[in-house]
Amino acid sequence: SFNKNDKDKGVNVQVLLRCRPLNEDEMRVNTPVVISCNEGRREVSAVQNIANKQIDKTFAFDKVFGPASQQKELYDQAVSPIVYEVLEGYNCTIFAYGQTGTGKTYTMEGGARKKNGEFPSDAGVIPRAVKQIFDILEAQNAEYNMKVTFLELYNEEITDLLAPEETVKFVDDKSKKPIALMEDGKGGVFVRGLEEEIVCTANEIYKILEKGSAKRRTAETLLNKQSSRSHSIFSITIHIKECTPEGEEMIKCGKLNLVDLAGSENISRSGAREGRAREAGEINKSLLTLGRVINALVEHSGHVPYRDSKLTRLLRDSLGGKTKTCIIATISPSIHCLEETLSTLDYAHRAK
Ligand code: ADP
Ligand code: MG
Repeated sequence: SFNKNDKDKGVNVQVLLRCRPLNEDEMRVNTPVVISCNEGRREVSAVQNIANKQIDKTFAFDKVFGPASQQKELYDQAVSPIVYEVLEGYNCTIFAYGQTGTGKTYTMEGGARKKNGEFPSDAGVIPRAVKQIFDILEAQNAEYNMKVTFLELYNEEITDLLAPEETVKFVDDKSKKPIALMEDGKGGVFVRGLEEEIVCTANEIYKILEKGSAKRRTAETLLNKQSSRSHSIFSITIHIKECTPEGEEMIKCGKLNLVDLAGSENISRSGAREGRAREAGEINKSLLTLGRVINALVEHSGHVPYRDSKLTRLLRDSLGGKTKTCIIATISPSIHCLEETLSTLDYAHRAK
C-alpha cells in the first residue's frame, strides 16, 4: 500500500478512493452493487454473498468519495489544497488510477464542456485547477508566467498532444523530429521537441486541453491503439515573481502534473493471467514502475527505481523530496467488476 504519510512525515502521498455510480445500462438490468462507501469513516467495503462463498472486506483511505459525490466536492476537498502548495513552489502530482471505465478521465477532465462560457458542474480536476490557479494569481495581482505541456505515453513512446497536426498523423515519418527523453546532466530530464505553450488566460488552457484531448482520440483511431493502455500527462509550470521583506526579488517555481493513468486491469490480475498478459506485451511497464517508485518512497527503501520507466523518469522532479502526490483510485460499484475492484482497493488502500 502507498499511504504512510501519517507515520513518515517526509513523504507526502495521499490516497483517495472514488466510486462511480451505476450507469444507465447497469441500472436497467438491475446490476447488483457490491460496494458500500462510508465517507465519514473514510472506508470502503466490498461485500458479496454467494451460497458458500462470502467476501466482506473493508479498506481505509485518506478520503472516500461515494457514488453521489460531485466533481466540485472532490476538487474542493482533495485538489484545492494541493494547488496552494504548487503556488508555494512545490511540485505536485495528481494521478487517476483504476480499471478502465471507472471514471479516471471523468475525474480528471470531466464531462462534455459547455461552449457558452459557463463553468460546467461536471468539469473535472484539470479545468478546475486551471481556474483556481488563475483566480488566485489574479487576486494577488501577481507577476507570473505559466506554460503547459500535454503528452501521452503509450508503449513507452511519447506523443506530444500539443504538437502541430502532422506530427501525429505521420508519426512513422523518419524525417520528423522524434520526441525523446533526454537527461539534462543535473539529474533531471527534459523532453526534446515537446511543445511548451505559454498561457496567459484560463480560456487559453481550456482550448489547449480540448485540442490535446481531441488529438488523443484521433491518434487512437489512426494508430489503432486503446486509450485504456496509454497515460496522459498534463503539466502546468508556474513562475511567480516575489519580493522578500528585504526588497529582494525572487522567482518561485511550482509545477502541477495531472496524470490520467492507463487502465490498471492488466497489471492487477494475479498469477497465471498476469503471466499471459506479460507474454502478450500487455503489462504496462510505466504503471508497474510507478507502483514500485511510490512504494520505495513511502517505505524509505534506499533505491527508488525512477529510471525503470518513462513515466517515472518524466515525473522524477515531482515524486519524492519536496513534493506532494495524490492518487485518486477509481472503482465501479458493480458486481461484474468485483475482481478488479478488489485489486484496486488492495493496491491503493491505507497502510495499517
Ligand atoms: P476511464 O477513464 O477510467 O476509462 P471514464 O472516465 O471514461 O473511465 O468513465 C466511464 C463512463 O462513466 C463515462 O461515460 C463517464 O462519464 C462515466 N462516469 C465515470 N465516473 C462518473 C461519476 N463519478 N459520475 C457520473 N458518471 C461517471
Ligand atoms: Mg479514460
